Amino acid sequence: MRRPILAANWKMQKVTGEAESFVRAFLPLLKSASGVDVVIAPPFTALERVGTALRGSEIALAAQNVNAEEGGAFTGEIAPGMLVDLGCGYAIVGHSERRTLYGETNQGVAAKAAALLAHQIRPIVCVGESLEERESERTFAVISSQIEESLSEVPRDRSAEIVVAYEPIWAIGTGRTATPEMAQEVHAMIREQLRQRFGEAGGEIRIQYGGSVKPENVRDLMAQTDIDGALVGGASLEPESFAKIVRFDEQGGP
Ligand code: PEP
Repeated sequence: MRRPILAANWKMQKVTGEAESFVRAFLPLLKSASGVDVVIAPPFTALERVGTALRGSEIALAAQNVNAEEGGAFTGEIAPGMLVDLGCGYAIVGHSERRTLYGETNQGVAAKAAALLAHQIRPIVCVGESLEERESERTFAVISSQIEESLSEVPRDRSAEIVVAYEPIWAIGTGRTATPEMAQEVHAMIREQLRQRFGEAGGEIRIQYGGSVKPENVRDLMAQTDIDGALVGGASLEPESFAKIVRFDEQGGP
């Protein structure tokens, strides 16, 4: 049984005070949210403050990126051990904004995922096709090579610790969501590939959908067989909105 995982990706938003205020408002809204994993990925600068505010709750702290090196002369970078030090349980790697704006490659993502696992941090590995790739019917080919290459360094006995996030680039921050059926089609293909790569354990890997997830559409997305969670940008910035997403299975919301 795969436990749903709902993650907030705040990107480059919220100074420390705003981040802490979010947590203070968010926690009381979650009283009845059980049976799901909740993750918050603030910017690096707010990790410590959010981690402190989350203490005593079951919500996990995540980073939005990491460097695969252990440390050294890498100005401006953050090592996996530094994330351990701040209590991160997860880190997002290979987000499409990092791939397209900062030239991250599948090989680089694979190295980051391996470095995170070596530090007992669960990688959330993002994949997704561009609009042009979808329109030229290359979605499956693109996703398939992203999965194969980005997960190339994940050992079979650690595979249950990873999370895959399928995020069609054309749906991120645009208000355009893939229909639940469109998303399921790709998730099913990813699931099959994970089974081939990791055997039985591939069936346990959680696959999130990301791309304009909102309180209004999360329920239908989560009803799909191979959609195990959501990676949420814009709609995770307000406590009420993210709480409704986390409590997707409750009639009428909070
Ligand atoms: C994301 O940041 O991963 C994302 C899916 O953003 P949004 O929900 O705003 O589309």
